[in-house]
Amino acid sequence: MRLTETQQAIRDTVAAFSRDRIAPNAIQWEADGRYPVELFTELAQLGLMGMTAPEAFGGTEADYVSYALALMEIAAGDGGLSTVISVHNAPAIACLLQSGSQAQKERFLPDMCAGRSIGAFALTETDAGSDASAIRTRAERSGSGYVLNGTKQFITSGRIGGVAIVFAVTNVEAGKRGLSAFVVPTDTAGFEVDKVEHKLGQRASDTCALRFVDMAVGEDQLLGREGDGYKIALANLETGRIGIAAQSVGMARSKRRSCMRGNDVPSARRSSSIRPSAFVWRILPRGSRRPKPWCWRPPHARMRASAAFPKRRWPSSLHPRRPRRSVPGHSRRWAAMDISRSSALRKSTGMCVCARFTRERPIFCGW
Ligand SMILES: Cc1cc2nc3c(=O)[nH]c(=O)nc-3n(C[C@H](O)[C@H](O)[C@H](O)COP(=O)(O)OP(=O)(O)OC[C@H]3O[C@@H](n4cnc5c(N)ncnc54)[C@H](O)[C@@H]3O)c2cc1C
Repeated sequence: MRLTETQQAIRDTVAAFSRDRIAPNAIQWEADGRYPVELFTELAQLGLMGMTAPEAFGGTEADYVSYALALMEIAAGDGGLSTVISVHNAPAIACLLQSGSQAQKERFLPDMCAGRSIGAFALTETDAGSDASAIRTRAERSGSGYVLNGTKQFITSGRIGGVAIVFAVTNVEAGKRGLSAFVVPTDTAGFEVDKVEHKLGQRASDTCALRFVDMAVGEDQLLGREGDGYKIALANLETGRIGIAAQSVGMARSKRRSCMRGNDVPSARRSSSIRPSAFVWRILPRGSRRPKPWCWRPPHARMRASAAFPKRRWPSSLHPRRPRRSVPGHSRRWAAMDISRSSALRKSTGMCVCARFTRERPIFCGW
């Protein structure tokens, strides 16, 4: 796929911002459990807070390829931040663009595109995850508007969000056609943050349980028509998936680079899978590969200890030995090492383990 000049420019600009402004602070934000407010203003100045919104509302009016490229670069700097931006752009802004009235767009989009108001998307409930039609939050008619009661679960930016797209049942008998969507400022009376989840990662992006207690919303806050909620949810989850996929690529790429460089990952972020080893383990089910009767000493074992190749890499029982004979069928460039003879490791994992090396630099042979 060939990128246009505009797409390349967007990618390069966001990559530079991510490298200089996001990545160096990611660990601190993770520790703080929040992002500084001014960061969103900076992101808005780059056009990232309303990427697909029309310029008339302060958006960038970029295409979805540019959006995906930008999210990849942000995710490479900090996965949590990319989650906030992803949910904010699509589904939150995407819902308003697709189903909002002109008045709703004029009221909410300028602030959202300027990064003053972060968008949230409140669909999931304790008993309604993959099956969005199972939601129980009720929206009952009251005068010229609705009163919402219920709870939501796992809502990104539930605490920092300024506006939320809330899904509720307006007609119990109508099943999927009885769901409606509302655009709700989070300072509406009755909008409560019940709990902020403690997560293992992406802690700076808040994931919240919300509670709506007699939350009154006007008819002008209904997105589309009454009963359109399920359609709106599914259509915008589709666009949301573009962002989630782009984030995953960005984060995976960043992690892979960290593995290759080895020493650029602050120790707090290292997990056993990204230790500065010159290889990545590939775990094979026992018996799926015949253990070879040789063991080859990998090139990096001969290298001097450095930050990228620290001295101790092996449990003593697994220390590689010199090959007893040459390895038939293997090129000079590639060499495979099998340490599956190690009964200690086999006993402890029930697996055969092998690793693969190049002479120049490590390559990935696993996930
Ligand atoms: C970090 C984070 C942020 C989130 N942010 C938001 C947000 O902003 N807004 C929001 O509304 N939600 C959000 N969610 C919730 C997310 O959308 C749900 O977790 C997701 O929809 C899955 O629902 P669930 O967790 O209840 O899993 P379940 O629906 O219970 O699914 C569990 C497993 O069962 C499988 N499964 C489900 N149904 C079937 C089936 N019929 N056949 C076969 N397999 C099935 C699923 O694939 C999954 O592997 C967030 C979740 C996380 C973790």
